[in-house]
Amino acid sequence: MQSSSVIVESGTFKFRAESTPLPASSRRPWRILSVDDDVGFQASLSHALEGKIILGRPIELVLANSMGSAAHLLANDRNFAVILVDVVMETEDAGLRLAKGVREMLGLQEMRIVLLTGQPGFAPIDDVMSTYDLSDYCLKSDLGSRGLTNVLTAAIRSFDQLSTVSAARRGLQLIIEASNRFSAARSIQEIATAVLIEVASLLGVSEDGIVAARGLECTLRVANHDTAIIVGAAGRFADHVNHPVAKLPDSAIADALATALAHRKSIAADTYQVLYFPRQHALAEYAIFLDTGRSLENAERELLAVFAANASKGFGNIALVSRLDRLAYEDELLGIANRSALLREIDRLKLTKGSTPNRLILVDLDNFSGFNEAFGSTLGDALLKAAAARLAEYFPPPCFLARIFADTFAILGPADKTDAHTAPQALTQPLVIGEQSFRFSACCGDISLDATDVDGRCIVRAATSTLRQAKSHGPGSIESYSLAVEHAAGERYEMMSQLAHAIEANDLFLMFQPQIDLQSGRLIGTEALLRWKREDGFVPPGLFIPLAEKSSYIHAIGAIVITQATAALKRLAEAGLEHVVVSINISPRQFEDPSLVGELLGQLARDGVPVGRLGIEVTETTAMENFSQVTGALDTFREAGGTVAIDDFGTGMASLEYVSKLPADHIKIDRAFVDGIGTDKRHEAILQIILELGRVIGAKLIAEGVETESQAVWLREHGCHIAQGWHFGRPMPLDDLIGQFGDRNVAA
Ligand code: C2E
Ligand code: MG
Ligand code: MG
Repeated sequence: MQSSSVIVESGTFKFRAESTPLPASSRRPWRILSVDDDVGFQASLSHALEGKIILGRPIELVLANSMGSAAHLLANDRNFAVILVDVVMETEDAGLRLAKGVREMLGLQEMRIVLLTGQPGFAPIDDVMSTYDLSDYCLKSDLGSRGLTNVLTAAIRSFDQLSTVSAARRGLQLIIEASNRFSAARSIQEIATAVLIEVASLLGVSEDGIVAARGLECTLRVANHDTAIIVGAAGRFADHVNHPVAKLPDSAIADALATALAHRKSIAADTYQVLYFPRQHALAEYAIFLDTGRSLENAERELLAVFAANASKGFGNIALVSRLDRLAYEDELLGIANRSALLREIDRLKLTKGSTPNRLILVDLDNFSGFNEAFGSTLGDALLKAAAARLAEYFPPPCFLARIFADTFAILGPADKTDAHTAPQALTQPLVIGEQSFRFSACCGDISLDATDVDGRCIVRAATSTLRQAKSHGPGSIESYSLAVEHAAGERYEMMSQLAHAIEANDLFLMFQPQIDLQSGRLIGTEALLRWKREDGFVPPGLFIPLAEKSSYIHAIGAIVITQATAALKRLAEAGLEHVVVSINISPRQFEDPSLVGELLGQLARDGVPVGRLGIEVTETTAMENFSQVTGALDTFREAGGTVAIDDFGTGMASLEYVSKLPADHIKIDRAFVDGIGTDKRHEAILQIILELGRVIGAKLIAEGVETESQAVWLREHGCHIAQGWHFGRPMPLDDLIGQFGDRNVAA
């Protein structure tokens, strides 16, 4: 069945089977069907009705000459106000059968039926008149005296009234259906747009309209309380959503909305309507402007009143829901969406898959934590606010902005409006806070919502690992989600769970690499290097240590190393190697634990090992990352008698000023420089500078990665004290070290 839409014409509701309403100005004729086998009667009827106007509209007469042809016609064209039917045609009661068919088979209830007969005495009995809802019964010969016009006018008026009632009923149905749709709406904008569409469909006018709100909580941040904001718009006004009413280019419309809000009443004008919704039910004040192009009839106004009461409650419910929403889905500091809101929005977009693909970008400010530490959290908060405002400016609605973690923002929106390169560009423009301005770089990870068919949580997780990948490439990097990234993340996850298992199962153990005094050729120390043996071989610490650092496993690993290192010290002493220092490596994250040094000293005391026999190695970058905390811990350790080495020296970017302040007994020269001995003059020059630096700050130098005799000789000749490398021995089990060095000294 075709769906009907209500249209308005000449002040009454009418049904039309087409979906596009007729222009209100057209004067549609009343259509009348005359069914009669009397050709003469049909001709005189046509003549009598020619040019006639009834109730302000012309008449269109359609003729049928039998019950059969009329039934056939009506099956395809039901749009008649009145049927004039001759009772006797093919059969004695053909007219009555047609009436029965119209009502019962075609279900046409509003169409009026007037029975005509040529012979007196054929009048149908009363119950037939009421059963088939026949309007009138009339002798053809009486038509002259009663007046054809009178008969038709009565029938048409009756048809018109019935149609109005039925349209009103249909209108109410629309209202109820609309109300159901309102309760499914989740945002003010959604419900505002729905209300416009429903009101337009109720009146059979176009959807050009605006919903303005005043005093709505969600508009307060963008404007003061009295500013009316456009919260929904459709048709030609669709672009104005989220702008103040006062900014509308058509000032007449802005004035109409402002007047309705100021006087708290609806306005009915010749070409538009403004409906006013009081605060009482809607919890904010609303005014809806609708471009009707014509004035409304009383019946339409009544319908609108019912509609408005329903819509009002809808607005109110949304306001309540959005209040709760704010608590659950808003970032408290920035007043923008939080992580939960982002997840919900992604899921919503995935459900309402439109034609344009959507993309999620994660943006992370580079060095924000450093900024926070250096300038304090008040300035840090202000910076985040400025960054959020800048991103909102570059990614206006329909893009969706959220903060999902400290300095990580998310932008969700149509792919053509979310270019991953725009986000870092937005932040590299100076951010002005008070009188200062700051420039930031940012890393980005982006993912297409179509890239994976899973839910919001999985998409954000995939985007996060893409962002992490970008960050690993340095400041300002951009990375797009790919299956390779996903795969790597999957592998890391797998390795992480295997590592947890290895820690429990004691599969981690230390190997010991000799450190040789270059002058005496004696073993004076050993670096403890951690090994993880899996069924398929050793996992290099360069792989699993960074992974452990990303989780709390690094603390468990630290504890394993300390326990095994002190046990090794005891065994070395038993083997006559009590002068050998065992050095362990400590990662930056281990220093987050303030009890680190205390526990280390406690363990040594419990095992009866002098603190002086344990060394710790920290990289230059570790010390730089958290200077005061790390140097504090190192000082404590040295004061207790332990030794400290700065590892991988020369690879970090520490300034000499920092280095001279580092509490270090040893500096370990990175393998890269040792590698250049005899081949790279620049590296040799750097080595000489580092050796000189050591002398100035009073630290002994340990060369790492010494693989050849000639490197060892060069280093000794240039004043390097200690060497470590394959030339003297690879990392080996403690027993092997004792076996090799236990009873003899090795010459360089
Ligand atoms: P590192 O502390 O700089 O350790 C020196 C690395 O150089 C070791 O690699 C060692 O096997 C390797 N090496 C030693 N001599 C030579 C040589 O002559 N030639 C070459 N090509 N390489 C040599 P490894 O054992 O793979 O350790 C890598 C890194 O893993 C270490 O660098 C250290 O930063 C970290 N690490 C190892 N064990 C631990 C641990 O117990 N705790 C922590 N936090 N980190 C550890
Ligand atoms: Mg080391
Ligand atoms: Mg090293």
